[in-house]
Amino acid sequence: MNNAKDSLSEIDLQHLAHCLSLAEEAVNAGDKPFGSLLVNQKNEVIASARNRVNELNNLAHPEIELAHWAAKNLSAEERNKTVMYTSGEHCPMCAAAHGWVGLGGIVYLSSAKQLKEWMLEMKVPAAPIQFYPIQDIIPNIQVKGPASGKLLEGIKALHKKYYDLQADLG
Ligand SMILES: [Zn+2]
Repeated sequence: MNNAKDSLSEIDLQHLAHCLSLAEEAVNAGDKPFGSLLVNQKNEVIASARNRVNELNNLAHPEIELAHWAAKNLSAEERNKTVMYTSGEHCPMCAAAHGWVGLGGIVYLSSAKQLKEWMLEMKVPAAPIQFYPIQDIIPNIQVKGPASGKLLEGIKALHKKYYDLQADLG
């Protein structure tokens, strides 16, 4: 079995809980539950974002928004030392953005593989693109995740809530 969750520190779990609360904010605004943070070497949150597809357009994922923010606001050296925490493993678009701007590691709450399984379980349409493990897109990136227990249950419950709300509207 995968023991990646064992490497998540208390601080990692706190940042992931913050991502979960951003994901909840997204769902409450009618968006899919995704939220992400940039954290510097001192473990300070320097930027945060949530899904805004509903509000902007289909490309408004938090990870690419943070990659743009980092390109504009941080030096290459700073970006390299900045870790992205995220409620869900990056999609290929966001992974590419993360790699192109040279951000540091990634810590995710749930993996793309888990999300795919949950979507099948919830009988909702699959994403229009294929997902890959982030290491397939950014070679040698430092990756931690997924989390387990309450945090993982929490993000799964938010995905279910999103689709339940959609069904009510539909
Ligand atoms: Zn994305």
